[in-house]
Amino acid sequence: MISTSSYLKTKIDFLKGVGEKRAELLRDELGVKTFFDLINLYPFRYIDRTQFHNISTSQDGDTAQLKGTIVEKEKVKGRNNRYRLTALFKDSSGFVELIWFQSVKWLEESIKIGEEYIVFGKVNVFKGKKSIPHPELELASKMSAPKALEPVYSSTEKLNAFSLDNRSRRKLAQTVISKISQEDLPENLSEKVISQLKLCSRFQSYQWIHFPPSDLALKSAQNRIKFEEVLFLQLRLLQIRKKRELDLAGFSFEKVGSYFNSFFKEKLPFELTDAQKRVLKEIRADLKRGAQMNRLLQGDVGSGKTIVALMSMFIALDNGYQACMMAPTEILAQQHYAFISESVKGLGVQVAFLSGSVKGKTRAQLLQFLKEGHIDILVGTHALIEDPVVFKKLGLAVIDEQHRFGVIQRAKLWNKNDDYPPHVLVMTATPIPRTLAMTVYGDLDVSIIDELPPGRKEIETVHRFEKDRTRIVGFMHEEIKKGRQIYIVYPLIEESEKLDLQNLQEGYEQLLPYFPAPDFQIAVVHGRMKHADKDLEMQRFVSGKAQIMVATTVIEVGVNVPNASVMIIENAERFGLSQLHQLRGRVGRGAERSFCILMTSFKLTKEGKKRIETMCRTNNGFEISEVDMELRGAGNIEGTQQSGSIEFNLLDLFQDRNILITARHLADSILEDDPLLEKEENHPIAEYLAMYRAKYRDWGRIS
Ligand code: ADP
Ligand code: MG
Repeated sequence: MISTSSYLKTKIDFLKGVGEKRAELLRDELGVKTFFDLINLYPFRYIDRTQFHNISTSQDGDTAQLKGTIVEKEKVKGRNNRYRLTALFKDSSGFVELIWFQSVKWLEESIKIGEEYIVFGKVNVFKGKKSIPHPELELASKMSAPKALEPVYSSTEKLNAFSLDNRSRRKLAQTVISKISQEDLPENLSEKVISQLKLCSRFQSYQWIHFPPSDLALKSAQNRIKFEEVLFLQLRLLQIRKKRELDLAGFSFEKVGSYFNSFFKEKLPFELTDAQKRVLKEIRADLKRGAQMNRLLQGDVGSGKTIVALMSMFIALDNGYQACMMAPTEILAQQHYAFISESVKGLGVQVAFLSGSVKGKTRAQLLQFLKEGHIDILVGTHALIEDPVVFKKLGLAVIDEQHRFGVIQRAKLWNKNDDYPPHVLVMTATPIPRTLAMTVYGDLDVSIIDELPPGRKEIETVHRFEKDRTRIVGFMHEEIKKGRQIYIVYPLIEESEKLDLQNLQEGYEQLLPYFPAPDFQIAVVHGRMKHADKDLEMQRFVSGKAQIMVATTVIEVGVNVPNASVMIIENAERFGLSQLHQLRGRVGRGAERSFCILMTSFKLTKEGKKRIETMCRTNNGFEISEVDMELRGAGNIEGTQQSGSIEFNLLDLFQDRNILITARHLADSILEDDPLLEKEENHPIAEYLAMYRAKYRDWGRIS
């Protein structure tokens, strides 16, 4: 096999210095079963052992290597009755306190006053006093001649307890690395790729990632490993896509008929944007190919995805099939139902609504009709995927706001027909960065509506503080006088639900004197209300009876009140970027100028500030998602959590996006040139990919 020689496949138990107990720990704590697994755990940082810092110039948060002596040490009993050890460490520039909470007894006995030590750790400055909590400590005399860069491996308390700390991990890695040669780690890329991208060899990359002789060597190793990580992923995803196209037969919707055409010619209330037209073309092409469509439609809030979905459903109807549309909340489903019912008037299309609230006889009747094919379009909540819901012939399933549904729920849709699975169109208003889409949805077809309907104005977004409150109330009055409506949103964080409710309640009460009944009405919606009450309050706002809606984030998803022109977000610093963007998208749906006011306290974290600034700077969801990924890392971006395909060992989707894009293009061109990887030069790639495939079998499926 290409990846591992028999030496590297040896069980970790047989590595010198491991033994039974430690082997078990390595397996349980780190998943290391073989020598090969061990060298696949890379150091998480490197210490430049040639550089020493001065205590006096080191700042709060610095990672410092210091050389000096310990002048005193003391065992201190803490309030929790546990001991800690503090030691005063001195170099030529000043003093710093070292503190340990673990191994206190052993450290107290072994630390020698007056001898020269090397200390390594993170400097804390509190009220002018410097300290380093649990630093690494080494006698200067015992330190081997400084190598340029020394690897640091992560450890856990449990590993430490069995002296599998950083130092011994380093030794183990050294043992394996020193025993292997080129033959143990044969090349898995073609010579062409290696020379084209000036990569170091696979063998070299393992040597250098663990024990880099220089900065340059380290960079080279990291580059090669990152590239490899993402290249094989992309090859795999592209193969999955190809295979699905070949394997998964689906209904072929040959024609575009009278439903589509009548709607298009007679009923479409506006001209489609170019982006909408392009996406519709993409969908039409998919639907008639004879393979199951699995398409993700990304488009910012308000970009007009619903109409695209509706027109796609007409194509299904034109070909004698039924269609359904599933939304994550009752309110949203109701809205879709109302919109679709209105749109199909006069076309002879039967539309029905189904949710948990449809019960008894009505439900039984509906299910009967659906089964007999008297219903053409079924709109509803996840009630749609329950087993008793049987279609006569479901041709297309549209899923709105996909990230609210789990993979399993979506999979249920596939089984609604006996022969072919329905075509699936998944819509999301949560744009994710392009690089992320390439990995999370790399095997799917992605359509993007990157254009808002004409006449839509940018939502003016401003940052305000408590002191501006009076002015804001004045502004609210002006807008209401013009006939507009206003949202005020409070954060809801589960741990402090009570507190949040209190915030909302107080905000509401403060508002009352400024907006007294009966001239003004304020609707209130929060998560603790009964369902029926919530709907009633919502309805008061939707119908225009209430001018102001005070709410927690329950209104986040999809609600459409075109007359609302102001969104005020309280404690805006407590929301994530994508949530802020979603909330803001509730306004600016009509032709009016719209506003978003972000209220925060004066003190903001650096991240909080960046979020608010980004919101004030741009309305573009894709741009916002890029910043979000920069701030929080790819794994925390909404819509990606369930995907295993973004867990890279080294690659960072934000910082290394150029590597990703290069790899994607390369994967594309390799498979273009040699789809089955049969050419001699691609043998190493094919062989490695086969192993890789076995390892990551269930990736990349959306439904
Ligand atoms: P989203 O993509 O967020 O689901 P919607 O489909 O709800 O957006 O559309 C938002 C609003 O824009 C709706 O009122 C819709 O009727 C309107 N709309 C959609 N497409 C166009 C268009 N091409 N021109 C004008 N208005 C449009
Ligand atoms: Mg929508």
